[in-house]
Amino acid sequence: MIKDSKYRPLFLKGKEGRGNYSVVVVCRNDEETISMNKIKIVLKGCNNFLKGYKFYLFQEENLKEEIVNHLKLKGISYICGVHDLDTLRDKDVIEINPVTCNIRVLYRSNSNDNFLMLTNKCNNNCIMCPDSLSVRTENNNIPLHIIKRHIKLIDKSTTFLCITGGEPTLLRDDFIEIIKYCKEKLPNTKYLLLTNGRIFYYKNFTETFIKNRPKDMVIAIPIHAHEPKLHDYISSIEGSFVQTFYGVKNLLDKGEKIEIRIVVNKLNYNMLKNIAFMINKYFAKVFRVSFMAMEMLGNAVVNNKEIWISFKDVQTELKQAVLLLLKSGIEVKIYNFPLCSLDKSLWSLNVRSISDYKVRYKDKCKDCSVIEKCGGFFNSTINMEDIKVHPVKG
Ligand code: SF4
Repeated sequence: MIKDSKYRPLFLKGKEGRGNYSVVVVCRNDEETISMNKIKIVLKGCNNFLKGYKFYLFQEENLKEEIVNHLKLKGISYICGVHDLDTLRDKDVIEINPVTCNIRVLYRSNSNDNFLMLTNKCNNNCIMCPDSLSVRTENNNIPLHIIKRHIKLIDKSTTFLCITGGEPTLLRDDFIEIIKYCKEKLPNTKYLLLTNGRIFYYKNFTETFIKNRPKDMVIAIPIHAHEPKLHDYISSIEGSFVQTFYGVKNLLDKGEKIEIRIVVNKLNYNMLKNIAFMINKYFAKVFRVSFMAMEMLGNAVVNNKEIWISFKDVQTELKQAVLLLLKSGIEVKIYNFPLCSLDKSLWSLNVRSISDYKVRYKDKCKDCSVIEKCGGFFNSTINMEDIKVHPVKG
């Protein structure tokens, strides 16, 4: 497989640490103004400390004893022996746990693909969800003050932020508080909210949401079928179709920007045209409809036999549904499909959508002339048995 040069891990592991849990901004520049919210990274040598930094990360595994003593005397927190330290950039926001020596990258300053994950929990249990049921039911919600600190430390010039979960709206009042805080701290950012939309069935909540959301926000809601039985089977929750359907309707009635997402799988691929009909009939004012290939993790792996279908096998139905929507003047995008699996007439709708830290290509792809335009594969999907690539020549 081709190694992506832009690859930046989201987790860094150190060997030894001390201090308290922190969410901080990376500062690799010695000239930067000293701030308690920043960490200093020392890549080589340990003798150029700046006073006032809250945290030090060291690539070196064995710090000289006098340096450790110096740090302890000063009460400064540190982690040493951090692998992949070179991948951190100025203005990244990271979470540091000096007990486990783990460093999690929450915001990558050179990426247009950053997200705020508000909770792991969800009130659906979709059959093709890339999270597992155990992940979505663990009780480890991120405290509100940590999420707010994360938002506060994000570079003000950031252009895009995705708000996601689990199901982020499950936080109810805290969710409203968070979007309000985003509006205040990052007013010029474009937002994408990923939600199952069920909460917007409730008109009071919908109104509160609209009053507090940042000004530029697209709300992306998945619809799995054109009728309740199949949708509810895929979401594993009886009644979810009705709530999602009216959630979308309530938002559209208020003029909100809605993206309907259809995750194409073995259970619904031959219904795509029907779903397109339904959208056309009831949701003609949607901002966009996106067709998405699956990410094979979590529930998707467990239910592999029931849901997996190769990219090639869905092309006829996909094209029919796409054309129906386009003819009605609805914008369409296609996500997570490698270009050579798509009918050429659909290439212009394809988005390089897979996050840079997850995207992979087959070895054969290096001979392909459209690799720069192709979105490639999820790291979890690339090894599915029936995936074949067809490098494009010239
Ligand atoms: S062969 Fe080309 S089009 Fe196909 S997956 Fe590889 S890079 Fe993409």
